[in-house]
Amino acid sequence: MSGEGVGDYEAEDIRKIVSRILSDLGNPEPPLKLPEVRALLGLNLGYYSTANTTLLQDVAARLTVAGKQILARPMLLVEAVTKAKLSALWVPDTKRILIDETVPKPKHRWIEGHEVGHSVIPWHREFLFGDNEFTLDPACHAAIEAEANFGAAQMLFLQNRFAQEARDSALEFKAISGLAKRFGNTLTTTFWRMIEDRDPNAAVFGMVTAHPRYPEIGSGDNGEPIRYFIRSRAFREKFGHVTPEAAFALIERNATHKKRGPVFDALEVLSNSNREACEFQLESFCNTHALLTIGMFVRLKPAFART
Ligand SMILES: [Zn+2]
Repeated sequence: MSGEGVGDYEAEDIRKIVSRILSDLGNPEPPLKLPEVRALLGLNLGYYSTANTTLLQDVAARLTVAGKQILARPMLLVEAVTKAKLSALWVPDTKRILIDETVPKPKHRWIEGHEVGHSVIPWHREFLFGDNEFTLDPACHAAIEAEANFGAAQMLFLQNRFAQEARDSALEFKAISGLAKRFGNTLTTTFWRMIEDRDPNAAVFGMVTAHPRYPEIGSGDNGEPIRYFIRSRAFREKFGHVTPEAAFALIERNATHKKRGPVFDALEVLSNSNREACEFQLESFCNTHALLTIGMFVRLKPAFART
């Protein structure tokens, strides 16, 4: 979703491709309307169900018109979708994006952006891509998938438009929630962009974790409490040694028993790479699916500040 996992040249190519799409759409105001993107690119969207594979067979049957393995391929597509627990597909032959209809609605926009990414990145578009929770995860480091996620973020947040508006807003959940509504994206993806894009020169981290008081809220599939550790460029440079576990320890220490909305505000200390103690303002918010925490550098701890 960031440039992480995406090469510099590839990122530049993808930026240009998205910029062209937005310009062809007349540089629209947020939120980006995906039906307009599909119309421009000649893509179509369908929803399939593994209980009713008609749509998959339909696509597969059409694949066989141009294909050679007439009977094997339709079976393979249905089987692949079931076995690999796929959430979505990009089918180049028919320029079709297929989304599993059982995937919760709020996730569809990100998935669609990801599949549009596959369809417009020149070195992707000939492949039939299957996507699951792993490849659609913004932290996926497999190059091809990181590129599709980068394309999705570039599009759904209208490139620099989001960063500009984010800079006019305070780094706090109220503002993030407002920007999420304005750009039509989820709170979590907006939170992510806010940490990375608002001001890369400010040392800021974000965490998506379990709620320490209610581990059933936000734990990963294996029960691990830490889902994402998101860092601005300046945080990576000056606090690169801070581990996700160390950052999570601050959350564990401060979490209240509030289950939704604001969970805590706190001032905590982390050392920078020069071993100077630095104060960070922490703000934590529970959206009932996970705990989201912002950690923002405030100042060198007074005793360490140079006079
Ligand atoms: Zn993908």
